[in-house]
Amino acid sequence: MSKSKTKEVDLFVIGGGINGCGIARDAVGRGLSVTLAEMNDIGGATSSSSTKLFHGGLRYLEYFEFRLVRESLIEREVLLRMMPHISWPMRFVLPLSSEMRFENSTPTSRLLNFLMPWAKGKRPAWLIRLGLFLYDNLGGRKILPGTSNISLSKDLAGNALKKSFKKAFEYSDCWIEDNKLVALNALDAKNRGAKILTRTKVIEAKRVEGFWKIILENQITREVEEHHAKVLINAAGPWVADVINSKLHLNSKDNIRLVRGSHIVVPKLYDHDKCYFFQGTDGRIIFSIPYEYDFTLIGTTDNDHDDIKTKPTCSDAERDYLVNFASQYFAKEISPKDVVWSYSGVRPLYDDGTENAVAATRDYVLKLEHSAGIAPLLNIFGGKITTYRKLAEAAILEIAKFFPDLKGSWTANSSLPGGDFPVQDVAKLIKKLQSDFNFLTEIRAKRLFRAYGLNAWELLKGASKLEDLGEQFGEFLTQREVEYLRKNEFAMEADDIIWRRTKLGLKMSAHDKKRLSEYLKIS
Ligand SMILES: Cc1cc2nc3c(=O)[nH]c(=O)nc-3n(C[C@H](O)[C@H](O)[C@H](O)COP(=O)(O)OP(=O)(O)OC[C@H]3O[C@@H](n4cnc5c(N)ncnc54)[C@H](O)[C@@H]3O)c2cc1C
Repeated sequence: MSKSKTKEVDLFVIGGGINGCGIARDAVGRGLSVTLAEMNDIGGATSSSSTKLFHGGLRYLEYFEFRLVRESLIEREVLLRMMPHISWPMRFVLPLSSEMRFENSTPTSRLLNFLMPWAKGKRPAWLIRLGLFLYDNLGGRKILPGTSNISLSKDLAGNALKKSFKKAFEYSDCWIEDNKLVALNALDAKNRGAKILTRTKVIEAKRVEGFWKIILENQITREVEEHHAKVLINAAGPWVADVINSKLHLNSKDNIRLVRGSHIVVPKLYDHDKCYFFQGTDGRIIFSIPYEYDFTLIGTTDNDHDDIKTKPTCSDAERDYLVNFASQYFAKEISPKDVVWSYSGVRPLYDDGTENAVAATRDYVLKLEHSAGIAPLLNIFGGKITTYRKLAEAAILEIAKFFPDLKGSWTANSSLPGGDFPVQDVAKLIKKLQSDFNFLTEIRAKRLFRAYGLNAWELLKGASKLEDLGEQFGEFLTQREVEYLRKNEFAMEADDIIWRRTKLGLKMSAHDKKRLSEYLKIS
């Protein structure tokens, strides 16, 4: 162990996923001094492995999760305005089929089985339409268009599907570049004065004389530091219980349920920009989403994941499940051989005692532990990407009593770095970027604007030809972009850049990936 240094702050956050970074940003903006420690890459765990939707969660209506759905529906547009570069509206086509059934433990299916036993668990079209009516109206839409009925023999979306699907509903939700969301929250927190430590693990924390004493270990240098904080927030996602038990040496009545979800990526299956919402005969649903221009993303699964020490990966059984599920709908069936990439994450769900992983609540639960004279601890259980900002506000509300001078909530009308422009200006700004840097192809301008928004101009500053951006790591990635990500978005290793801040790994050759790794090691 090398020698320790002592640092003291109001708030120390364990975990640099979306919930930890969202809390750090909100807190520092209200005047607290904040340090956050993330043991790997920022947003490198669950928050990079989601389906990447800001959504109300249509499916959760069947579980009567009205609070969560309403909050998420309202948040979609708040978040879209905050970050119109990395988030955008999408239309979802839900083909109707008389064979699709409820998951039989949902409150809705139990009610329907009681009222309409002859339906034998089938999910009737009128009920889906009712759900979509609620979906359109629970959350006060202003930007996103509402639900419409479509004929699959007339609409472009029908072309990719089997001819047996005749009708569909079409509704709105939003896409979000999940890892960028985390990196930009962390960057904004840092710009406002928070200390963001990546590749830094909390190895121990204990209460000492009304403060928290936190021991950190740098995962690269193995250097150890001691920090002090008035309040500790445990936002370790799937590791929340590991932190409570093995880092804080405490017991908790509350538990986390680890539910793995996997996605597969296949070459583009259709030529339009809509997504599909497919219902299965097992009561589950999956999405099929246009992805990274040339691909289609399909997911997800719901499987209990026994141990957080086991890295989540998409098993062959999960891959085959997704391939078979999607092939029930697509005219041209897909096969496991079509899968070019897959990823997997573990949902840190609050354990509400349900039998089935699909049914476990997706809502968040905050548990504050404190009494006179002992330093407060706030444990965060659950929480969707979509609700991260509201979760952060709720977390700050829990700890507000310890900081009498705390400023009021502020994030709803803020912008993330690069995102301070109106939602409707995206196309105009992409054109402007391409005309200001006329060596950019349309697709390159679009990709850079979607990744950096107004900061794309800073990234490209002074360049009048592609060569001015330095070394090229394959078709799309330049040295200038790599350096920008290192300086601003906490990137250190090749995977941070090619699989998280961007998905250029899907297009780069093995040779270019190796060159990038070597460049990062020596420069
Ligand atoms: C398959 C799947 C699909 C999903 N799809 C969606 C979706 O479309 N929309 C949506 O809204 N939500 C979605 N979610 C949910 C959402 O992704 C998660 O709820 C959210 O990302 C959880 O964020 P988090 O910050 O709590 O956890 P994480 O992102 O896992 O962050 C916790 C962090 O804590 C760090 N950590 C742990 N222990 C320590 C320690 N001792 N010291 C330092 N750091 C530590 C970890 O390295 C990790 O980075 C999905 C989840 C999954 C798995």
